[in-house]
Amino acid sequence: MSTAYDYDRESSAAAYLARPLQLLIDGRQVPSLSGRTFKSLNPATEEVIATIAEGNAADVDRAVAAARRAFEGPWRTMRAAERGDILLRWAQLLRDHADEIVELESLDAGKPIAAILRQDLPAALDTLTYYAGWADKISGDVISTRDDALTYTVREPVGVVAAIVPWNFPLMIGMWKLAPALACGCTVVMKPAELTSLSALRIGELALEAGLPSGVLNIVTGPGRTVGEALVNHPDVDKVTFTGSPGVGRGIMKGAAGNFKRVSLELGGKSANVIFDDADLDAASKAAASGIFFNTGQVCSAGSRVLAQEGVYDEVVARLAARANALRIGDPLDRATSLGPVISERQMQTILDYVDIGQKEGASLVTGGERAAGRGYFISPAVFAGVTHEMRISQEEIFGPVVSVIKFTDEADALRIANGTAYSLAAGVWSRDMGRVQRFAKRVRAGTVWINTYGYTDVRLPWGGDRDSGLGREHGTAALENFTEPKSIWMNLNV
Ligand code: NAD
Repeated sequence: MSTAYDYDRESSAAAYLARPLQLLIDGRQVPSLSGRTFKSLNPATEEVIATIAEGNAADVDRAVAAARRAFEGPWRTMRAAERGDILLRWAQLLRDHADEIVELESLDAGKPIAAILRQDLPAALDTLTYYAGWADKISGDVISTRDDALTYTVREPVGVVAAIVPWNFPLMIGMWKLAPALACGCTVVMKPAELTSLSALRIGELALEAGLPSGVLNIVTGPGRTVGEALVNHPDVDKVTFTGSPGVGRGIMKGAAGNFKRVSLELGGKSANVIFDDADLDAASKAAASGIFFNTGQVCSAGSRVLAQEGVYDEVVARLAARANALRIGDPLDRATSLGPVISERQMQTILDYVDIGQKEGASLVTGGERAAGRGYFISPAVFAGVTHEMRISQEEIFGPVVSVIKFTDEADALRIANGTAYSLAAGVWSRDMGRVQRFAKRVRAGTVWINTYGYTDVRLPWGGDRDSGLGREHGTAALENFTEPKSIWMNLNV
């Protein structure tokens, strides 16, 4: 692969990367107390692109203390409309620096520029402006109970929030947490994934420029096992909002029990995209391919199981393979690239192991599943046919460009397979029979169901799942409830 980082040495992203990248605590960029740093690699070239301060539990203490002071001080007492104005100014600064942010995200996460421009950046901006609009509209109710009292509720911010973010959509998922938390009047300590800290640190600087008071947003970069755990166990953190793997999510629930922190978890998925015989095969196979190969399959709601009915099974497999082979793999900074590398050598090895496992289990690898020659963690998109429901490649989240195509007989069989994993994040169904798609939408266990489409999200709609897919919902008004607590007020009128 050609080297991406040589793309534009004069760009503002390159200038940013040449600076020491420090923690953001109490409105200042500071080195970690230990003085330690870690390196960030470009997954497309395996080159070091940045050196970043590595925080630890002592840095978390400082950040939480700053967040607490800001919560009790300026952020909580500021007029809600003013909070909203600051968030809107921040959104404008993100737009003004869009080229730099997009390039940083692409270099750091290996994401194709075209995809960031289409998805990550607009979604992050939409999230920020949507919740900025909510800042002055969060209210309680007057609930009449008796003649001699005025009884009503208000919604108050929960306090100091720990936001722990994964590497697959650092900017967008980061904003899914920051925007509603800040709009509700909470203060935040954010921990980006150690593989992708860059966009978070840059947008944190821009938040200060937008007028966010010191301590309202703090960013502590570093490993999950130190920084993440210190946040989760911290007695002065009131809530943890986490997106990541089910294993870490389980540990977070246990850690949060110490002081009964509020917890919301967005975890994994093994979503079924179900294609019936009467579906529009062109549209279905196109969406099924992008449903698994977008972001190189590193998507929690990836349609990693395509369930195809007997009559169209061979056709669906052939069309998916043709689409996989047509994807343009390469330099993420090239606007024509549609498939970038996976995030790390470790992730690449996990995916290649699953390709082996699938073959050993007896599935047939129709195409792909190989590491591309040269530098960078590139894997050719893989299509498995002859997959049965019990196989590991049908049950376990691979988090890479690998699709398992499973045959089903009828509606009941499709539902049995769709609902038969530990996950429940999303599902898709394709058919021209409107009764059938509605029956399926009712009975499938999934937080989001796409009918004759796949993969869309919008910050106005609740997002999340249960079981190994998580706990609670993000987005929409659900997020406002996550970051506020109702308080009941009872006033005696006979005084
Ligand atoms: P991960 O769980 O390894 O890491 C997520 C974050 O948690 C990172 O910031 C990491 O540093 C931190 N972390 C790691 N160990 C920790 C610990 N012991 N305590 C506290 N924090 C810790 O997940 P990942 O590999 O970054 O992301 C992939 C997973 O995320 C997949 O399972 C995917 O399905 C899921 N995901 C879910 C959604 C969703 O909306 N449901 C979205 C994106 C990704």
